[in-house]
Amino acid sequence: MSMIDIDFDASNHSTVSVETPPEENNEEIKPVMTNPKIKPGWRVNAKMEGVNGYVLAEVRHVKQVQKNPPEFLYYVHYVEYNRRMETWLKEESLDMTTIQFPRKKKESKKAETIGQLSPDDEGSRLKKKFSRVGQNNIEFVPLSYIEVYEDDTPAMKRLRKKEEDDESKRRNIEKIVLNGWTIVPWYFAPYPEPLTRVPCIYLCSWCLSFWPTFECLQSHMIKCPLIGPPGKKIYEKDGLAFFEIDGAVDDDYSTNLSLLAKLFLDHKTVYYDTKPFYFYVLCEKSDDMFYDIVGYFSKEKCSADEYNLACILVLPQFQKKGYGRFLIEFSYLLSKVEQKTGSPEKPLSDLGLLSYRSYWLYAITEFILSYYDHDGSVDSLKKFIGKEVNLHCNFPKLIEKTRIKKEDLVNTMTSFGIARQAANGTQIILSLTMIEKYFKNKKDKIHVDPKYLKWSPPMPKQGVYNSSRAADNRRRAAIANGSYDFDE
Ligand SMILES: [Zn+2]
Repeated sequence: MSMIDIDFDASNHSTVSVETPPEENNEEIKPVMTNPKIKPGWRVNAKMEGVNGYVLAEVRHVKQVQKNPPEFLYYVHYVEYNRRMETWLKEESLDMTTIQFPRKKKESKKAETIGQLSPDDEGSRLKKKFSRVGQNNIEFVPLSYIEVYEDDTPAMKRLRKKEEDDESKRRNIEKIVLNGWTIVPWYFAPYPEPLTRVPCIYLCSWCLSFWPTFECLQSHMIKCPLIGPPGKKIYEKDGLAFFEIDGAVDDDYSTNLSLLAKLFLDHKTVYYDTKPFYFYVLCEKSDDMFYDIVGYFSKEKCSADEYNLACILVLPQFQKKGYGRFLIEFSYLLSKVEQKTGSPEKPLSDLGLLSYRSYWLYAITEFILSYYDHDGSVDSLKKFIGKEVNLHCNFPKLIEKTRIKKEDLVNTMTSFGIARQAANGTQIILSLTMIEKYFKNKKDKIHVDPKYLKWSPPMPKQGVYNSSRAADNRRRAAIANGSYDFDE
């Protein structure tokens, strides 16, 4: 069996899965329940606004809203729909006779099929998988494929139209102009009420302050002390720069940034208290030496859950250029410097999940390929085809190298079907297609160059809010008279 050219249907692998579903998934449902009747990860038919009858949904979270008698709310993701449709439902909106658990197919002699779809044949195989819905022993389809699955039936088109109509009712800002781009927002954002009555709001490219007319913006920008985000520049290479902004120091900027982000993120809560966060803002440097915002991610100063990223956004005009991945790569670079394992805060947006999956697979592939003598070309790895190569997956090493949390690694391996359980532990097995994709990504996508990071983990500044404000004002004055050094 070759490590590289693996056949997933090979019958010489019997029990093969990274993680079997938890034991509790096989519990029977008892008539009197003090626990929620459905657990996260289970599926059930659920009511959906604007649709007659039920739609298959996966329960993502459960919360208890009443103790006696116990009452629960279920946060559901409709499996064939955009994440924007996710919602909390009461038990009465769920058809309890249709509960499905994730479980292994007991009689299968073949390799475990959880998540073994390859990206190349997802379309046809997804349809087959969905056609099995309704059986109790369903095979769960990796979430990433569900997210990108599009159905063009008239019902779906109608639903999407309705979804768009609802969105536009909820959207309160008609248009924004930022750095020469006119952008139509996607979601509601709590900008001051008078601004919801003007046809367009104008944002300062650097401090992100907002104005009702172009003339107001112009007169502001003449006086604006910034030429890019405030804070410290911690990375710059090939016209791309990162600034680290302390939410406790530059609170005005951080709030403006959160408001802007809310226009494009449905799930995000805009925190007026930005003090607990750092904001890492990615900018393109323009010819005239100004720094224009492309996107950002925020990070809690102290995260009990090992989150290394709270919120991530690439502005619409910069999407599909690999910046999302670039931000993610940068967040892990910071974790590597901190020598801490990190994970993004959940739930992720649909675009966020796709970018993460792609990055995690890339990082795993890079780790595996580091075991082999190759010159960076696919050809130099082809010699492994046909050889018996077993790579024992050393999780501690993989985690230390990538700083990706174990559950994210396991989840990725399961989704892409690249892990197998062998006598000596989990093995990772890549297909030639995946290796080719890795090299293509390595060559075509923009990557963070660790050599250009000028950063050490900051000490959170607490209780220095007022004095830091004075320092901030001095810094603004220095920027205005040209004596400020961003590298300081
Ligand atoms: Zn400004």
